[in-house]
Amino acid sequence: MPELPEVETVVRDLRPLLVGRVLLDVSNGAKRLRYPWKPTWNRRIRGLSVEAIGRRAKFIIVGLTQDASLLIHLGMTGQLTCVPDDEIVADHLHLRFRLSGGFELRYRDIRRFGGVEFHTGQASLEKRFESVALGPEPWLMDGDNWVASLMASSRAIKSLLIDQSTISGLGNIYADEALHRAGIHPARQAKSLTRPESTALLQAAGCVMEEAIAGRGTTLRDYVGGSGLGGTHQHSLAVYGREGEPCSRCGLIIIRIMIAGRSSHFCPGCQSQDIGKRGGNRVLP
Ligand SMILES: [Zn+2]
Repeated sequence: MPELPEVETVVRDLRPLLVGRVLLDVSNGAKRLRYPWKPTWNRRIRGLSVEAIGRRAKFIIVGLTQDASLLIHLGMTGQLTCVPDDEIVADHLHLRFRLSGGFELRYRDIRRFGGVEFHTGQASLEKRFESVALGPEPWLMDGDNWVASLMASSRAIKSLLIDQSTISGLGNIYADEALHRAGIHPARQAKSLTRPESTALLQAAGCVMEEAIAGRGTTLRDYVGGSGLGGTHQHSLAVYGREGEPCSRCGLIIIRIMIAGRSSHFCPGCQSQDIGKRGGNRVLP
């Protein structure tokens, strides 16, 4: 599933390819997406130009003229690419936006948990974001608010980290990586973390995602950036997907457990169950 670093990579790839192009037409497939494209939007996008592209948490926002925008969520397996219009058409392609200059913006999604919406006016976008309750990204999270959210929660810290309403951007991969870096066991109750542990975890979450962005994100199966090129960060993961391999820091074998129905990878040497034993106020290299 694309997490924040993958979505950021898509945005950065698309920016030089997309900004300034005019939307000429759109064709959409018959299969329904989680965020379905309405046929009535076809006519409304014609002639609008792309002014900017950015994101909010894991939503991609393509800013158009006339205060309009496309709002895209990649769901589990979404791919948003800008390619020459004669490029071969892959299966599971649901939307093709024909652009000026002989290009197309394509939305492909095998599992169809994502999609593209059309919005006009800032208020419509804001309303949409309110409906999904997004917490701040790690870099923008207020330290005191973060500590307070942890202290108020009896859930496993891993579950809290992937809850987008508390902190946005982390999914299964980067939550595991952040917990390993901060030296915190994923099953610990959030409220059991000391203040230095909570602070170290927030810092680690920001660091692992910055490094992943620098590596163009993690490609495990379907993810590609906006130009169609995959990520490289899968080679730098410390624990995620490395069950049975030795920890690069302490040499103990990485194990996988289930927490709230999701698999969690951690090192029993670096990530003790004991409060304050590891992690503390340091972010390990
Ligand atoms: Zn270790």
